[in-house]
Amino acid sequence: MKTFANFENRVAIVTGAGQGMGKKITKTLAERGATVVACDIDEEKVNESAKEIEDDSQVYSEVLAAAVDVSDYGEVMEMVDEVRDRYGNIHILVNNAGILYPTKIEEVTPEEWQEVIDVNLTGVFNCSRAVYPHMKENGYGKILNNASSAGRSTSDLGGVHYTASKAGVLGITRHFAKEGGPELNVNAICPGIINTDMVDTFGSEEQLQHIRDSLPLKRLGTTEDIADLVAFLVSDESSYITGETIEIDGGELMI
Ligand code: NAD
Repeated sequence: MKTFANFENRVAIVTGAGQGMGKKITKTLAERGATVVACDIDEEKVNESAKEIEDDSQVYSEVLAAAVDVSDYGEVMEMVDEVRDRYGNIHILVNNAGILYPTKIEEVTPEEWQEVIDVNLTGVFNCSRAVYPHMKENGYGKILNNASSAGRSTSDLGGVHYTASKAGVLGITRHFAKEGGPELNVNAICPGIINTDMVDTFGSEEQLQHIRDSLPLKRLGTTEDIADLVAFLVSDESSYITGETIEIDGGELMI
């Protein structure tokens, strides 16, 4: 029988929760008892997602939607203050929001570079910085950053800005883990190609088939694969893991 980490009495914030991995992570944590604040820049989408998850018969906890742009520190702080006022504590932060453009180097404009860095890198800093003092003060905190195999290597689908931003996330992870101990555990995951809208939008069927064929596990990852790993890394079952980066890529990095 599969046993699940119990997140009862835990309050989690998940960014980019309107769809894809963020939505599935939100659902998984909520099914396992966490109160989840699902935030996304797309208000309509995150409202729908939070409602759908809360209405699920497997979910007994509260799932609150918040329209937040992670690249805006003011908006992030406002959300974190509201969550603290409402629930008294924040135990878990999953930095998942991200954007990708498949732009070749010659075509990357300064504006596009900045946009990707603002969301993928500064967004992770903003949210982590906003919860950090509370977690330190409360003596407990789990931060999980959704980076990418691009951060270790280069991106198959995204441009140089995507690769650079995800490499930066791995640095943020190590630094928050180092300064954040012993109260905080801070880790990152590096997904390979996962079946979501991001991949559907930017990968051609031939490209995706080529990637599938090249992988030892012969399939793309699923949002469930990701959510199960995230749930482990923000649970007390992984309490001696910090500053770590875990590949979840069907064997992509070694080939
Ligand atoms: P997705 O595009 O399906 O979902 C991303 C969500 O983030 C969307 O709901 C979007 O509205 C939200 N978002 C975008 N900008 C935001 C902002 N400024 N503030 C708040 N929310 C914002 O993406 P996904 O495939 O589920 O990817 C989730 C994370 O995993 C991303 O960080 C992505 O870079 C990373 N990743 C994805 C893959 C993949 O193969 N899909 C692989 C490796 C890493």
